[in-house]
Amino acid sequence: MNSKYVIGVDIGTTSAKSVLYAVDGTVIANHGIEYPLFSPTPETAVQDPEEIFQAVINTVKVIMQKSHVDPANVLCVSFSSAMHSLIAVDKEGKPLTECITWADNRSSDWVEKIKTEMNGHEIYLRTGTPLHPMTPLAKLVWLQNDYTELFSKSSKFISIKEYIFYKLFGKYVVDYSIASGTGLFNIYTLGWDAEALKVAGVTADNLSEPVPTTYQLSGMDVGYAKEMNLNPITPFVVGAGDGPLSNLGVNAIDPGVVAVTIGTSGAIRAVTDRPITDPKGRIFCYALTENHWVIGGPVNNGGMIFRWVRDQLGDAEVATAKRLGKDPYEVLTEIADRITPGADGLLFHPYLAGERAPLWNSNARGSFFGLGMHHKKEHLIRAVLEGVIFNLYTVLLALSELMGEPNKIQATGGFARSELWRQMMADIFNQDVSIPESFESSCLGAAILGLYSMGEIDSLNAVSDMVGATYHHTPNSENVSIYEDLTPIYIRLSRILQEEYESIAAFQKKWV
Ligand code: ADP
Repeated sequence: MNSKYVIGVDIGTTSAKSVLYAVDGTVIANHGIEYPLFSPTPETAVQDPEEIFQAVINTVKVIMQKSHVDPANVLCVSFSSAMHSLIAVDKEGKPLTECITWADNRSSDWVEKIKTEMNGHEIYLRTGTPLHPMTPLAKLVWLQNDYTELFSKSSKFISIKEYIFYKLFGKYVVDYSIASGTGLFNIYTLGWDAEALKVAGVTADNLSEPVPTTYQLSGMDVGYAKEMNLNPITPFVVGAGDGPLSNLGVNAIDPGVVAVTIGTSGAIRAVTDRPITDPKGRIFCYALTENHWVIGGPVNNGGMIFRWVRDQLGDAEVATAKRLGKDPYEVLTEIADRITPGADGLLFHPYLAGERAPLWNSNARGSFFGLGMHHKKEHLIRAVLEGVIFNLYTVLLALSELMGEPNKIQATGGFARSELWRQMMADIFNQDVSIPESFESSCLGAAILGLYSMGEIDSLNAVSDMVGATYHHTPNSENVSIYEDLTPIYIRLSRILQEEYESIAAFQKKWV
């Protein structure tokens, strides 16, 4: 009997990745191709759609070549993609703009206006996308007002995934998941939201047709099929956004299971069986399927804060690490481990890069609080590691208000290399923390969704047989008590500082 295979493709912000899996989830071949993110001004973050398209084609081509799999045995190709991107195209489908990514902040002046003058909060409650410059809604308001001519020449406004599917299949379709990250899509009716479209100055004709994430396209352009070494009749499953698919790929789709990622930035996400929005506007709600909704919050200040500590305070430790042939992060965590939990009463707010969830305030700034003469550098390092976790914990509290108490944490990202940091999460969250075996979780999520769409598996829960666990941490009750005393101070402080964030950011804009 011939073995069957599935391909998961992830169109990320730094690279496109393709992984060829056997139907039991075993990785047969993988390949990634990087592309640049252009930032000609601090507010701009754009990419070349054509370069991304070529990278996608080439990654598939390479894994097909590497694996020597018969194209007839590839069941489907299924897609994950970064969310919130926007490309304006003309009638022929030619891009009139670069691919404006989630990281682009040029629409920031309009976000406040959408909030205060355009009924923004009500729109959020129906669309599930927090009001932020990352959203296509805000980008459209900005283009409409600041680039009127270009805006009126545009025929469609699409995401990078729609761009790729249009080139391959000549059809504009958008999956419910990518649509749910636009700020334009009503997650309760699964259609474009009339008021949001009005604010954005577009009609449904300017957008793609929303389809379920399991929707299959067939009839691929024969030339591109040949280039990829695929059979032209191979179905392509439209798939979902990278965050929701990553929950699936790390086996965090059951009720009460929360996926936490701390890489350069961070995120917390859980799956519910229906859309839920937050009366306080802190939490996103994006589709995975019509019966799986991913609620959560992205945080800017993840591992990049520890990197900042390494680079700004860690010269001696970097030198020691070099001498011992160790990773500098390891040396820094070793010295932080000498200090007791709670860093002898030192708290750190990690808002060096402003913050998305839970504050949604780009003017927030970092601070140490509680410094005394007894504090040494090791305390600062420990407080920083704790501060990153405290911040994620406040997002978890907001999530818990909406979905109930979590019962398990599946944690991933660079932070998980540190035993100290993993245990800190178990203690501050007061939850069991597991580290799943995770390799390209969004590609795996896409592949599983593809298998589900093809009827090869009857539920997404098949993922639990495909994802193993590495480390497991349980809360230490003594540490939990210490952190329980500190958490309320941490939370009150960021409320108290709210006004002063504006003052210090205004000062920095004026003088720095
Ligand atoms: P990305 O999100 O860019 O893919 P990673 O998931 O690799 O990044 O995470 C990078 C972050 O992980 C670093 O900024 C650092 O904070 C953290 N990190 C990496 N190695 C270690 C380590 N050995 N101990 C603690 N933290 C680490």
